[in-house]
Amino acid sequence: MPIATVNPANGETLRTFEELGAEEIERRLAAAASAFRHYRTTDLAERARLLNRAADLLEEDQEDIARTMTTEMGKPLAAARAEAAKCVKAMRWYAAHAAELLADEHPPQAEVADSGAALARVRYRPLGVVLAVMPWNFPLWQVVRFAAPALMAGNAGLLKHASNVPQTALYLGDLFRRAGFPEGCFQTLLIGSRAVEGILRDPRVAAATLTGSEPAGRSVAAIAGDEVKKTVLELGGSDPFVVMPSADLERAVRTAVTARVQNNGQSCIAAKRFIVHADVHDAFVERFTARMAGLAVGDPMAGSTDVGPLASEQGRADLEELVDDAVRRGATALCGGQRPKDLPQGWFYEPTVLTGITPDMRIHREEAFGPVATVYRVGGLDEAVELANDTPFGLSSNVWTTDAAEQERFARDIEAGGVFFNGMTASHPALPFGGVKRSGYGRELSGHGIKEFCNVTTVWHG
Ligand code: NAP
Repeated sequence: MPIATVNPANGETLRTFEELGAEEIERRLAAAASAFRHYRTTDLAERARLLNRAADLLEEDQEDIARTMTTEMGKPLAAARAEAAKCVKAMRWYAAHAAELLADEHPPQAEVADSGAALARVRYRPLGVVLAVMPWNFPLWQVVRFAAPALMAGNAGLLKHASNVPQTALYLGDLFRRAGFPEGCFQTLLIGSRAVEGILRDPRVAAATLTGSEPAGRSVAAIAGDEVKKTVLELGGSDPFVVMPSADLERAVRTAVTARVQNNGQSCIAAKRFIVHADVHDAFVERFTARMAGLAVGDPMAGSTDVGPLASEQGRADLEELVDDAVRRGATALCGGQRPKDLPQGWFYEPTVLTGITPDMRIHREEAFGPVATVYRVGGLDEAVELANDTPFGLSSNVWTTDAAEQERFARDIEAGGVFFNGMTASHPALPFGGVKRSGYGRELSGHGIKEFCNVTTVWHG
């Protein structure tokens, strides 16, 4: 895949970039290792000062970087602005909370005395240089949610961003440098995915985090496993959105639309499978379809647009194949199911609602990365739980019910890293984020996230 900015709203190639050569990669690795040796000894107040400075700079740059993101991957401009604002918030949150999250832990003295210790504590030390392989869909946020905690913990970062967002990638490297982080502490490497293996095997790299597709995650984790290096994987999702009879139907419908089409439908935590109780199924489907069909598809720079183009031509082709396969096997498209006729340029796809889904359809098991919803009818609680779990993925889930016993059942039994009741899955700095099953492992954000790239050290005094 060439490293280039190609506007998905019209297919125009705006800028292309040369990949870094072997010599330059070597120079960057040496700089990262050297930066880490010093940076790991800085105190948390200094790191917080630098991160807050980065947040201030990003706040000033919000409009420019939002336009760059929209140009590179097609998300509506308002969403790009919101993404930048969310990054500012997360940076400030980690700057404010890292000291408390990483404070030494003191196990009860009576218990450590049994180990012969006069005193024992747990200290969180940084792990080293961490390679971050990141996707294009939230090109700023995915990186910041790794970088803010990793830098606060005293690590250094190397960013291999997706090849279609090079300008956002370069902006990020520049942002941390401008904020005053030592040279080499956080660097963007413009490289293709083939260069990842050599970097990951380099002894100066301690660990890796990857947000992206399952094949990419499998490849990076296999190499890291071979090198016995720690990884965090944030992979795909096919989150269920369950609607039970006690739900506030109007709110559920409105949220369902947003949850499905946010980021032009290209979000790992988008609700993708709508599992609706028979008592409210028909009413839900009618209102949901009407709203999906009424969305404004078009220029992502225009304020009136709800859904922009898909980020790549290949991404749209993959989505079309999933929908066509389902329709061929008997599914019904209640709306959409094709490219909008009035937008011949760019990689647009109509918001689509599919019913009549059966397990032999690819879309039943694969992730639909675009504005396509599948709706299922279920007769009761057991069936809803079973269907929610009938997927290789386990990222998050949404359940609409006000019944406490039902909530307890879903919170106990849904196989996912999150269960959101009467609302939409969203990430927040104070809450852990991540999945189970094929959605990956490890957690980002909160105290759990910052500790993923720490050496949890037992300090024991005899
Ligand atoms: P992708 O094709 O896997 O790309 C993600 C990153 O991995 C890119 O930087 C890509 O580089 C790199 N990459 C691809 N194949 C690789 C390989 N074999 N070895 C090393 N690096 C490799 O995924 P995407 O299409 O950008 O993103 C969409 C996927 O990400 C969806 O499945 C989505 O659900 C998932 N996602 C998950 C989360 C989460 O938090 N769980 C968040 C966002 C997205 P190139 O661009 O150079 O190929």
